[in-house]
Amino acid sequence: MVTMSDSAEPTVFTRIVAREIPADIVFENDTVVAFRDIKPQAPVHLLVVPKTERYRTVSELAAGDPALLAEVVATAKQLAVQHCGGEFRLVFNEGESAGQTVFHVHAHVLGADPGGALPEGSLGQ
Ligand code: 5GP
Repeated sequence: MVTMSDSAEPTVFTRIVAREIPADIVFENDTVVAFRDIKPQAPVHLLVVPKTERYRTVSELAAGDPALLAEVVATAKQLAVQHCGGEFRLVFNEGESAGQTVFHVHAHVLGADPGGALPEGSLGQ
């Protein structure tokens, strides 16, 4: 179920969850949805997004629903097995100064091409 926050406009991810705007969705169940990042920073760059918009950041999610955070991580692993051999970098930006631009909690799942590797010292490129 998609819940509405009591303050701001729906984020772009809330609108993707609601199918108000399109996305290249690669996985969905009752609680999370995953789709390709519109501006990929690695050969594989997926976003795993809880359907609820209750949590803006990973810290809020960890405090409020640790089981849902665990599901986000398990979904990331499942997607990495399907898309990049099971190994992946998992990134949560928290706060503007850390690069967060969408305040609907989401995990970046970054992976390399087959036989390749992600660089150290940058997010994905
Ligand atoms: P953040 O910077 O908040 O950690 O991550 C937000 C991510 O969402 C960025 O990597 C950005 O490219 C991606 N993004 C922003 N708007 C859209 C959109 O409309 N569709 C998709 N698929 N990704 C988006």
